[in-house]
Amino acid sequence: MSEPTDTMRLGYVGLGIMGGAMAANLLKAGHPLSVWNRTPEKAQPLLDAGATWCDTAAAVASQSDVVFLNVTDTADVEQVLFSVMGVAAGADEKRGLIVVDHSTISPVATRAFAERLEPYGVTLLDAPVSGGDVGAKSGTLSVMVGGMSEAFDAVLPLLEVVGGTVTHVGPVGSGQACKACNQAAVLGALLGTVEAMALSKKLGLDPTVMLDVVAGGAGGSWQLANLGPKIAAGDHAPGFMVDYLLKDLCIVRDAAAHVGLPLPIVAQAEQLMRSASAMGLGQRGTQAVAAVMEHLGGFRFDDPMPGNDESGETDEA
Ligand code: NAP
Repeated sequence: MSEPTDTMRLGYVGLGIMGGAMAANLLKAGHPLSVWNRTPEKAQPLLDAGATWCDTAAAVASQSDVVFLNVTDTADVEQVLFSVMGVAAGADEKRGLIVVDHSTISPVATRAFAERLEPYGVTLLDAPVSGGDVGAKSGTLSVMVGGMSEAFDAVLPLLEVVGGTVTHVGPVGSGQACKACNQAAVLGALLGTVEAMALSKKLGLDPTVMLDVVAGGAGGSWQLANLGPKIAAGDHAPGFMVDYLLKDLCIVRDAAAHVGLPLPIVAQAEQLMRSASAMGLGQRGTQAVAAVMEHLGGFRFDDPMPGNDESGETDEA
């Protein structure tokens, strides 16, 4: 494993919720950093902390040894890599730039991007993350990396600045494949939690009581423990938004279709998440999908339970 050197020049493209926080941690760790963001104002906190502004992604690449990407979707990564003023345009074939893509995008497209980058002397590592904005700020993300071992070893100390767990999971595209699996598991746990809570409510059992019991047993999950209480309280404030999970779902669905694998639960989940988005909840937290179940079941999670009603009246079961 090679140690980070003070001579390693870093670049960052995409300074949104995740990228802004992760770039700040790299800067705090003492690495010189060049940055570009489509909306320049978002770079200001980093410039105030000592980062250098570049007018294009190509300019970032031309003065960096490692460039981190953190943009929204597959088409956005393609644009920042291959547009006229993109990363590839600023790469020098003889220098050997490493690009670390932290965005959550298609594993299939990632492999194609890696091939297209080869003539520019660029090695691509896909390194999607899990752990949300909280993990990005605290530098405790789980980072799943695909790509060549030599490049992984070279950037590992940098990834350890932003990640609590950094795992090399295989060749290029494997990091995104692992993230797609993660999102499939998240969906199952989230929708299982919503359905369990709906059943509990309709059977006259307080869902918060049910959650406390189930959390410690085989039905427990991160989704149940963290989002269950929010669903019970009708709290749809965003951590991770419905539309972002929907984007990830489409990545999961397309990756499965690419290998001819039916994923029936994911197909159902897509319709439920799309329903939530169509109900105007796309910018709310993923737990807002519970509103779809409320609509189907004709109840509200934050209605008082029978017996807890101040009137003392009870519903018929
Ligand atoms: P965000 O706050 O919306 O930031 C997205 C960034 O991408 C912004 O800097 C945006 O620029 C830039 N961008 C998007 N399209 C672009 C394009 N075509 N050209 C140039 N720049 C473009 O999103 P985020 O929450 O940081 O998420 C970033 C990635 O991390 C996504 O792939 C997401 O799925 C993944 N992720 C997010 C979380 C989370 O909890 N938020 C957790 C795990 C993984 P502007 O500033 O100009 O809009």
